[in-house]
Amino acid sequence: MISKYAIAIHGGAGVISRSTDPERIESYKIGLTEALQAGVLVLKSGGTALDATIEAVRSMEDNPLFNAGVGAVYNADGKHELDASLMDGNNLKCGAVTGVKTTKNPILLAKKVMEESEHILLCGDGADKFASLHGLEQVENYYFDTEYRYNAWLKAKSEGKIILDHTADSNVSLGTVGAVALDIKGNLATSTSTGGMTNKKFMRIGDTPIIGAGTYANNETCAVSCTGIGELFMTGCTAYDIHAKMTYLGLGLEDAADYTIGELPDGAGGFIAIDNNGTIVMPYNSLGMFRGKADSSGLIEVAIWE
Ligand code: ASP
Repeated sequence: MISKYAIAIHGGAGVISRSTDPERIESYKIGLTEALQAGVLVLKSGGTALDATIEAVRSMEDNPLFNAGVGAVYNADGKHELDASLMDGNNLKCGAVTGVKTTKNPILLAKKVMEESEHILLCGDGADKFASLHGLEQVENYYFDTEYRYNAWLKAKSEGKIILDHTADSNVSLGTVGAVALDIKGNLATSTSTGGMTNKKFMRIGDTPIIGAGTYANNETCAVSCTGIGELFMTGCTAYDIHAKMTYLGLGLEDAADYTIGELPDGAGGFIAIDNNGTIVMPYNSLGMFRGKADSSGLIEVAIWE
């Protein structure tokens, strides 16, 4: 029986200005710390890696600073369409949702899809209907609104751009959220949730709800959650690719992660990953990535650029 546990989280990668208001940066750090604490609470009491990642992600979905749940970015129609997925490395079970418009916590819906359906990925109205049928809280789409994401959308729209929700020249930063964990039984799991990219086309689907692209976990190797330009992670099957490098090339997590981040185009973003020894990597090739880690030794730390 393994008795150590560990968890890592991200709150989005991108071009985050170091001159962002220090108070705002501090509130992001508090949000990351709260998410880590939510995950640690589960792991410490002997809970599963999967539940720890869900609780960490749910905490960030409920925090308007992050681009997931409340605070999600706007699409080209000025609406929110949310994506989420999770995977249990113990049995390779997974669940995912995309284009969700009224379900308050998409990560809870991804879990329901995994546990209560014969499917892996549900989309749009069907996903929200499934959430209602299973008693998950529903909200109006405007529940996800925030003024700063709205302003970011107006700017992106006027410039005809589709952007990560991190821009160096504004205070609008932070993004997609994710968590990976190792529990005391040696199981690995991952969860990822996002509003996607600002001004994305209506019903655009990124890497987050695609198992193997933005999210992957396997007890034999690692658990991974990606953040950044989704289309690049889809092209590279990035989350699965790290597992594949460990499996087929016999690489350790650190080497596999270095290899993979080196293959991604500059500015693509980054990922967090953990192996079955509790080794954590959090590489990125954007200017920053909000991230943090905690483990059974009492370590708890968050970082943005350093
Ligand atoms: N990967 C997400 C997407 O493309 C965006 C992000 O990570 O910020 O939808």
